[in-house]
Amino acid sequence: MIYVTIDGPAGSGKSSVAAGLAKKLGFKHLNTGNLYRGVALLWLKAGRPEFSQEFFDMIDKKHFSVLDSAIIMNGEVHEDDLRTLEVGKVVSKVAEVPEIRKIITDKSRDIVKSDNFVVEGRDIGTVVLPDAFLKIFLTASVEERAERRYKELIAKNSKADFEDIINEIKTRDSIDSSREIAPLKPALDAVTVLTDGLSLDDVIEKIYNLYRERIKIAEN
Ligand code: C5P
Repeated sequence: MIYVTIDGPAGSGKSSVAAGLAKKLGFKHLNTGNLYRGVALLWLKAGRPEFSQEFFDMIDKKHFSVLDSAIIMNGEVHEDDLRTLEVGKVVSKVAEVPEIRKIITDKSRDIVKSDNFVVEGRDIGTVVLPDAFLKIFLTASVEERAERRYKELIAKNSKADFEDIINEIKTRDSIDSSREIAPLKPALDAVTVLTDGLSLDDVIEKIYNLYRERIKIAEN
């Protein structure tokens, strides 16, 4: 299978870029952030319990799959409910738990095993798919990332406060980059793409061209 991985911080545009790139390449798209958000949603629904074996078993037993930009957990489709500020505030805490990372890493590998995929997240090039064909580290300034998330929430008629979003992004960056297991960092062989001032199409085109170059090299 061919995998293109896109890692990067919150709001760097990974989801739109990964979806557009997958379409252009004819690949499927897995947003692993949504899997962690799904676990965070289950944790909130369960009343924020202690992280115990009982909770891990409950997550492990659920069947996870993807459908476009939604995820399906045991037959239930989740999309907009994964992207609320409430879930955003707790997801990094949930994603810090080693047992949860192991479960989601295994489920991610299982989801992508029989198709070509563009896979996005924080640790895809470093941990989940270290042998991927092309690894991208996508990044943008905090202000640009907050602006994008703000517009995304407003477009969905969700509650949005700019300062709140900046703080949420900074907090998540800090937790994601400093955690002991699978911290957010570029893989040694990743290509870093800074997206400030670039349109979505520009970024997709740039990565698509990198992919074509790699394919040419691999074919020769
Ligand atoms: O990509 P998104 O911002 O939706 O991801 C939500 C959260 O899930 C991240 O802030 C991070 O804490 C966690 N995550 C992770 N590893 C991944 C994908 C997401 O820890 N591969």
